[in-house]
Amino acid sequence: MLKRSPEFQIIHEFFEIQAATFNNDSVIVGIGDDCAVLCPTPQTQQVISVDTSIADRHFPADAPAFDIGYRALNVAVSDLAAMGATPTWFTLAISLNHHDRDWLKNFSKGLFTAAANADITLIGGDTTKVPVSAPLSITVQVHGEVCSGTALLRSQAQVGDTIYVSNTLGDAAAGLACYKNKLSHEPLLTAYLRPEPQIVLGQKLMGKAHSCVDISDGLLADLGHILERSHVSAEIDLSKIPLSKALLSYTDKTRALKLALSGGDDYQLLFTSALDNATLSLDNITAIGTIVDSSTAEHTAIHFINAADDFIETLTTAGFDHFHEPSV
Ligand code: ADP
Ligand code: MG
Repeated sequence: MLKRSPEFQIIHEFFEIQAATFNNDSVIVGIGDDCAVLCPTPQTQQVISVDTSIADRHFPADAPAFDIGYRALNVAVSDLAAMGATPTWFTLAISLNHHDRDWLKNFSKGLFTAAANADITLIGGDTTKVPVSAPLSITVQVHGEVCSGTALLRSQAQVGDTIYVSNTLGDAAAGLACYKNKLSHEPLLTAYLRPEPQIVLGQKLMGKAHSCVDISDGLLADLGHILERSHVSAEIDLSKIPLSKALLSYTDKTRALKLALSGGDDYQLLFTSALDNATLSLDNITAIGTIVDSSTAEHTAIHFINAADDFIETLTTAGFDHFHEPSV
């Protein structure tokens, strides 16, 4: 029998066997040939995004391998959720700086646990060895589909829309700080290490939301993308920002709010809709503000209300980058 090279042994043992357990009729040829051969659903548009996660830049190199795999896929799938797309396939390019079977086994477990949750199939990739001094790098390209013309875009926010966010914000940024400081604040650590893409919510928003984005870089930065693309401004009620009990037990209200506004890594959805909360009838969403005409805005595109004057002053003059906590 032909003996596999170490590279192909890794591909086979940690990726191909697991991918084969996914029953996906749209995969005609998956891992093992020069290309994957795929059959998209008729009347759909294909939605594609790619994300690279680099050790000690996007995640701590010493994080559990399971979590690194779980997270690398979920942060990419979160972009599909923000479009309202149904996940279909993904590819994985991984650059390893050492060959550690236990690490690979746990990475693969985390990756495929997230893949099963999102119902997305691994169809190919690339496996490379890099010098020991180079950081581990993981690139995940995700594919999804939407019924033609229904994708949720950043560019369609309308004046008068209510701005909503899902669940709570700031937990992941606090979780990363806990990880770095070796504090075992369980719900916060999990929020950072195991983000959950809001796939079901994204799909429920189709036809109801005018615009949507996932919050990867912090509420204010990602809201800024919608405002820029839609040529509008926003009024944000700082007393409405949803903060978890876990976050408020970890830190004071002011810091919690800063983490929620600028912390990043939450992977919740921010969307705008003309519908009120009762009509939307969705669980775990909070109205935090309104889209307003940009011609009424002066310098900044985001106006803040309902917080201490000096807090708003700092936000407005220093800009929210001031609060940005450097990633790992
Ligand atoms: P090629 O040289 O033709 O680009 P490779 O030898 O790099 O192909 O890979 C062989 C097969 O294994 C291909 O089908 C490729 O998509 C797949 N593959 C390689 N690395 C991975 C990975 N990390 N995860 C999933 N599939 C992979
Ligand atoms: Mg080839």
